[in-house]
Amino acid sequence: MQVYILDSSAIFLKKGLYPSMLTVSRVLKEIKDRESVSYLSLIDLEVKDPDSSDIEEVKKVARKTGDIYKLSETDIDLLALAFKIKKEGNEPIIVTDDYSIQNMARSLGIKTDSVVQKGISEKFKWVRICKGCKRRVDEGKICPVCGSEVYLVRVRDKI
Ligand SMILES: [Zn+2]
Repeated sequence: MQVYILDSSAIFLKKGLYPSMLTVSRVLKEIKDRESVSYLSLIDLEVKDPDSSDIEEVKKVARKTGDIYKLSETDIDLLALAFKIKKEGNEPIIVTDDYSIQNMARSLGIKTDSVVQKGISEKFKWVRICKGCKRRVDEGKICPVCGSEVYLVRVRDKI
């Protein structure tokens, strides 16, 4: 099973919705702006932290490659979580634009996906649409008019 692991830039830039998404608690602590928090409340993002043995394994490799000096504790947690997922027999993909994380992931044989897709210059934003009456909903997960669930749609941002 493919599991996507989101770093904070992936959340700030509201990178596409993946079927299975994880992040670490340090990333959540970095997310404070209101828009990202409300985005987080809508997506199914599970928070999981790596074991200390996974962190040690990643640090060991990072010391060899020299990446240890460029990686933050949050970066190491994300990599260690990916390492743990891989060990459990699933396929982790880290969603990040951070060069050190990408480099380190390669050393660990872990795939990455970039946050800002090359060649796309248009800006997008997420809007909430009601599944029932299709109206746009400003807040929450439930339509205030018909009570149906709300889903996210990516639309071109007019600036
Ligand atoms: Zn509705």
